[in-house]
Amino acid sequence: MTELTLERVKEDLYSRKDPTLTPVDIEAKAPLVYDILELKRKLGVVVLGHNYMEPLVFNLSSRDEQGDSLGLSRFAATTGAEYIIFNGVRFMAETAKVLSPDKRVLISDKEAGCSLADEFDPAEIDRLRELHPGAPVMIYINSYAEAKARCDITCTSANSVDIARRMPGDEIIFVPDILFAANLEQELGGGKKVIYPGQDSGTRGAVCEVHEKFTLDDLLDVRKSFEMPRGHPNKLIYAHWECRPDVLREADFYGSTSQISKDIGQRVAAGTLERAFVASECELTSNLAQEFPGVQFNTACSVRCQWMAKMALEGILDILRRIDSGGDLSKYEIELEPEIMDRARLPIEKMLAMSS
Ligand code: SF4
Repeated sequence: MTELTLERVKEDLYSRKDPTLTPVDIEAKAPLVYDILELKRKLGVVVLGHNYMEPLVFNLSSRDEQGDSLGLSRFAATTGAEYIIFNGVRFMAETAKVLSPDKRVLISDKEAGCSLADEFDPAEIDRLRELHPGAPVMIYINSYAEAKARCDITCTSANSVDIARRMPGDEIIFVPDILFAANLEQELGGGKKVIYPGQDSGTRGAVCEVHEKFTLDDLLDVRKSFEMPRGHPNKLIYAHWECRPDVLREADFYGSTSQISKDIGQRVAAGTLERAFVASECELTSNLAQEFPGVQFNTACSVRCQWMAKMALEGILDILRRIDSGGDLSKYEIELEPEIMDRARLPIEKMLAMSS
């Protein structure tokens, strides 16, 4: 293994040629990155990095510690490490804790919320069940454990269509994302009725405050500004599944974060991708641009997730220092009632069983 030194960390940061990392930033941040990597190695702590982390934070994680929320929680459950630092948002860290109740899951800012998880009242699930007795309830993984605990199965943006088709009955309740629900309805094409909050039932769902920002007009403007005509084989617009239905219809490819990354990787391997625009969180594009330097990525830097951006080097280093010194971790540790964890684990495990 190459010896870790401050100079090596600086060399790595300079070699990234990231336009947002000026020499001033590198000189200021490199000592923090070095201290984090050194303590991470010394203490054997797993540091998970969601794809929406800014590159400096994302690259604190090794390749197998990077990914989308479910992939990271699955990884957390298989690692032997006692401590897991989750660089993502709180609902993700909760999912990791539910799947690994004996491990200590830490997040550098417990206030890192999510509009989907925060703006949804779990009591709406009971109301929908009363209105549609017998219909199974599927909940997006982007939710808190307390809400998951009331549902029959969880899903991700990658497996929702398949799971919805395989659930019993001819209707399914889906919460909390109303744009996701509309996309699911469109994809199922009438094969199964999707019941979701806000459809004349007096119930209230939520949307991802980041992905709802993209409009059809934005995509049409991108096509014009960056000369990306619809159907071009080498210039593609990608859209995340949490975007509006008309945005998905206009995109050349839509899917989950991992499906988008995989499609880009396959086209790069085939030598066919020249330019891409990804209608999603802007740091996803920053990380893709670093991974695939041969592709010209256009990005919407104003579309950032304020919650994901709360993960900062200083907080991560503070966690590691406290672990090292045996200090108090309560400021950072995810703690959930055992009963909630037990109930929330069932719908997640059901999804995992149906996805394997
Ligand atoms: S990008 Fe959207 S879904 Fe993801 S954490 Fe931010 S608000 Fe939540």
